[in-house]
Amino acid sequence: MDYAVRVSHYIDPVTFELSRDVILLIAGEHVAEVITGGEVSGGLAGLAKNTLDLGDALCMPGFVNSHCHLDLSHLWRQVPHGLKFHEWGPVIMAGRMLPPSMIAAGIEDAVRMLVSSGTTSVLDISVGADSLDALARHGLRSVLALESLGFDGTRAEAAMQRVDALIRDKFVLERERLGKDAGEAAAPATHEGIDYGFSPHATFSTSQQLYELNMGRAFGEGRICTTHAAETTEEEEFLLHGTGPYAPFIAQFGVDLSSFKGYGARSLELLLRDWLGPWLKPENPNLVLVHCNYAREADFAMISQHKPSICWCPRSHAFFGHDPWPWAQMVETGANVVLGTDSLASNTGLDMLGEIRQALVSGSVSPGSSGKKVPDPVTVTNLFKAATINGRKAMSILADAADLAIWALPGGAKSRDEALQSLLADNPPLLASFSRGRLIARSI
Ligand SMILES: [Zn+2]
Repeated sequence: MDYAVRVSHYIDPVTFELSRDVILLIAGEHVAEVITGGEVSGGLAGLAKNTLDLGDALCMPGFVNSHCHLDLSHLWRQVPHGLKFHEWGPVIMAGRMLPPSMIAAGIEDAVRMLVSSGTTSVLDISVGADSLDALARHGLRSVLALESLGFDGTRAEAAMQRVDALIRDKFVLERERLGKDAGEAAAPATHEGIDYGFSPHATFSTSQQLYELNMGRAFGEGRICTTHAAETTEEEEFLLHGTGPYAPFIAQFGVDLSSFKGYGARSLELLLRDWLGPWLKPENPNLVLVHCNYAREADFAMISQHKPSICWCPRSHAFFGHDPWPWAQMVETGANVVLGTDSLASNTGLDMLGEIRQALVSGSVSPGSSGKKVPDPVTVTNLFKAATINGRKAMSILADAADLAIWALPGGAKSRDEALQSLLADNPPLLASFSRGRLIARSI
């Protein structure tokens, strides 16, 4: 055994139920055994090579950030509030032109934010795989969804070739060259635990042809495919009729829209009804549709039919001043609802507790089904599930994966819901966290 960890409270990553007085035994990347009820009364020594006796503490599945853009982290606090998305976009495009050293420094800071706030896995939308080294150095389980875009379908092949070149350069060749036997000195360059996926940007910016190339690869190889959908009302107007502020926004990137009169369909109709049909199964947790802020009745029916993962980014949502997110309708569809932070260009932080707190004040999920003004335990629990075990499902993380975050719980807690409320209300310190069985944070 590599680790023996004793805590007073443990939330199971599959059932999400609470156990008391638990010793976890971790072997390699997995939780090998969970001993409950104080059956081992003696010391932990002898159970494993390394021991953590943490006393009054809550061990739970680590947070999964299901949507961020780490390569925009250098724009933290640089972008004014109150911009509409089509006004914000050009600011971000200009920000991407800043020096690579600045972008790398932003990513390093961002990954530290993730680790220090109990995040153990991340789905990062990445234009150039720039976050690879920092994520590997800090040991975070990650999928880099390689972003491609282009409105002109005749350029789809070229866009996909750029993604393929990136994969060859950053992933396959590194593994071939160094392999598992490369030794400690060369280990950081092996990027173990980091995989790639695909991310066609959004229906307003990306052609059907490029979506098809991405989806063919993602579904053919069993990888994540993630895309932005139904984020703004202006986007929907452009897709339906070719009009509104998105037309000049897109034309400024050299796209000829003179003959474009819209697709006559909204974003989720294009994706789930028209463009992605051949690949969709009854359940599609590896297809992560981000935002879906303006999903309509017909969309909920399609979401229910195909059950993708749907990602809400509560603080970025508030940054852009969108209508309340359709939490209740989305949960009702049976889709795998997950949470993300989006980028630091539209958020103040990357901590998932901050996203849950924002979700509870945003009007979408409060006062909850019981009608109470205080946070509804059912709602709080479902938000924690969205931020942990639902994210694991989207990223195909195994049930016994040792991806865990351990928080101080000074006053104890009588129930799971009380423990979760304490995390929200008391802001206790993160004592330790594991990603893939590796200790990636430890505060004591
Ligand atoms: Zn995004």
